[in-house]
Amino acid sequence: MKIYNFAAGPAMLPAEVMAKAQAEFTNFQGSGSGVMELSHRGKFFQPVIDHATQNVRDLLNLSDEYSVLFIQGGASMQFAMIPMNFLNGATADFVDTGVWSNKAAKEAAMFGSANIVASSRESKYDHIPAQSQWKLTPGASYMHITSNNTVAGTQYQTLPEAPAGVPLIADMSSDIMSRKFDASKFSMIYAGAQKNLGPSGVALVVLKTKLAERTDNSKVPTMLRYSTYIENGSMFNTPPTFAIYILGLVTDWLKAQGGIAAIEEINNAKAAKLYNFLEESSFFRSTVAKADRSRMNVVFRTPSDELDAKFVAEARENGLTDLKGHRLVGGCRASIYNAMPMEGVEALIDFMKKFEVANK
Ligand SMILES: *Cc1c(COP(=O)(O)O)cnc(C)c1O
Repeated sequence: MKIYNFAAGPAMLPAEVMAKAQAEFTNFQGSGSGVMELSHRGKFFQPVIDHATQNVRDLLNLSDEYSVLFIQGGASMQFAMIPMNFLNGATADFVDTGVWSNKAAKEAAMFGSANIVASSRESKYDHIPAQSQWKLTPGASYMHITSNNTVAGTQYQTLPEAPAGVPLIADMSSDIMSRKFDASKFSMIYAGAQKNLGPSGVALVVLKTKLAERTDNSKVPTMLRYSTYIENGSMFNTPPTFAIYILGLVTDWLKAQGGIAAIEEINNAKAAKLYNFLEESSFFRSTVAKADRSRMNVVFRTPSDELDAKFVAEARENGLTDLKGHRLVGGCRASIYNAMPMEGVEALIDFMKKFEVANK
């Protein structure tokens, strides 16, 4: 049976990437060793990290003002590293659109003031608060957003801009490289790799090099300073070599698909098909405001918690795995990142139709 894995993260990787990694697994480029067995200082690995870096630069169309960094600790460590490096007791603005934004703000509050400019928490994060209602701090140290809310299933359809002079920082863990956007509007973008870029173990950080000058080196430990990663090409210590290698392969694959513009069209078509089905169904429903629906994480429900659980279990038996909603919100969730082919979404819809008929 063909398996389609709808996990939110770690998530499925493109089949071509898995096959390539398998083919090179025990003998990388004639070295006689696998990538994970090779020194990060040796002649084989430097080109691997350089290649991954260049792919990121090409795909996001980054100017020389930016550094591309690979840092361990996932997106969650960035929640702390950002205020450690940039806040210095001042105030940063946060748009609270879900559990991840909330966690980012909580970490920042240890290093200064985390001002929540708007929140949709009261309505279980079912929408993104309208920008006209945001209460911004004049002269904030930075403004932080979560571009796609993996748990709640919402996404900014248009990315906001920060006021002039305020660095804009975005957690793009679950929609990076899924759609075109203007990276030059951001001072920093970060993403745990395990949703759209590769395996867990590495976070991609794209940062305006100049911003790293803000860090007080006497107060921030070496490994937690962005400047350490900039100055050492992300190799102050041993980096997560295998994860970076796979990220290179995933971004090669993305380029071969035609880049971000091409994958965005496919992503839009996949999401439209699934949401259209949800709209037409009198059994399944989306719980998310129409204007803010995520094209990456489609959150939905059946008429009851019991049927949600039955659906998830029977879907799994039919080769459609990991459709359970996040433990904090329940229900069902289909994560349809770049690697999920249209056929996977079609197989899901076919099964949903059958389940609806059998359980209505
Ligand atoms: C998954 C996720 C995180 C947490 O990522 P880790 O790499 O596990 O720390 C943070 N933000 C968003 C938007 C996510 O989807």
